[in-house]
Amino acid sequence: MREFTVRPEIMEFDPYKPGLTIEQIQAQYGLDTVIKLASNENPLGVSPIVQKTLDRNAAKVFRYPENHSPRLTEAISRHVGVPKESILVGNGSDEIIDMLFRMKARPGKSNVICYENSFSMYRMCAKLAGVEYREVKRGEDYELPLDKLAEAADEDTAMVIVTSPDNPTGLAAGIEDISVLAGVLPKDCLLVVDEAYIDFVWPPESYTPVQAYDKFDNLVVLRTFSKAYGLAGLRVGYGILPQPLAALLKNARIPFTVNLLAEDAAIAALEDDTFYNETLSVVMRGREYFTEELRKLGCKVWPSQANFVMFEPTKPAQSVFKALLRKGIIVRPLASFGLGKNIRVNVGTDAENKQFIRTLGDILNG
Ligand SMILES: *Cc1c(COP(=O)(O)O)cnc(C)c1O
Repeated sequence: MREFTVRPEIMEFDPYKPGLTIEQIQAQYGLDTVIKLASNENPLGVSPIVQKTLDRNAAKVFRYPENHSPRLTEAISRHVGVPKESILVGNGSDEIIDMLFRMKARPGKSNVICYENSFSMYRMCAKLAGVEYREVKRGEDYELPLDKLAEAADEDTAMVIVTSPDNPTGLAAGIEDISVLAGVLPKDCLLVVDEAYIDFVWPPESYTPVQAYDKFDNLVVLRTFSKAYGLAGLRVGYGILPQPLAALLKNARIPFTVNLLAEDAAIAALEDDTFYNETLSVVMRGREYFTEELRKLGCKVWPSQANFVMFEPTKPAQSVFKALLRKGIIVRPLASFGLGKNIRVNVGTDAENKQFIRTLGDILNG
């Protein structure tokens, strides 16, 4: 085979490591049923209203979608109470993260700041964009070091990224700390708050800066339909950005990245309050159950504001992960986040949660 070269950054790329799939584990261990609690997906599946919308629209997919998803942009604008000129819909919020790295940061010049043990997409996008990625130490117990992020910034800092609630710890930043940070960043530096799990915080006004969005002029908030709205496989997310920035990114982006089915499904998902509220109640009940039961098993558990919890089992995490797999339960070991002692498990249905706790108990006490 002929060997080709690619850009030096790409030659030795450390790829994104997604959670294992149910089919992989069924095949590997010869299991009929497998429970996946590894990718923070919605335990209730897809809203029935969204499914009907998808069926209805299947016959339209020979058409191109409308560029920039104007109907969904309006629906989001009404939903969050921010002008539509500030909203950019993307192929998952991952696309908006990628756009920000490629369009806001300058290759070979800018740096981007985040805290350690974060969502690996940021580092990956930085590398791909040729941008320096600076990591700030967390507190002793992985607390989010919001007060330390600005100290690491200089005139070449394009963005500071805060994930809140944080993946994988589940910890969330308070609105006061976010406001203070936004106020002390260098002039041309954005504060990007990745709110993939914001639906699960309580009460929202203590955490999200979106309700006071017009008070900020350097804030970007990222949200997704992949978690609380159950549309991970369709790939839809959005950013709320300062209007002039949104306009610039819109001009430069690749057309049609949000597909026709995804736009209609997301609009339907925003309207299905029943499914959304049921999701929140299953998640909040489940994370309380996990927190209590994992502590009873002697595990260290971090207080979570997300749809998952992080815990340190009483036996080595990798062996616990493997033992769970053999019993048909997929969780997420956190070595790829630099947290090799810990595991992340997302809330499933009540029955799945029970089975997880029972199986884990057998493994830890066996
Ligand atoms: C799941 C997740 C996202 C959302 O990704 P999509 O591309 O919208 O599916 C973004 N940030 C974090 C931290 C996440 O965990």
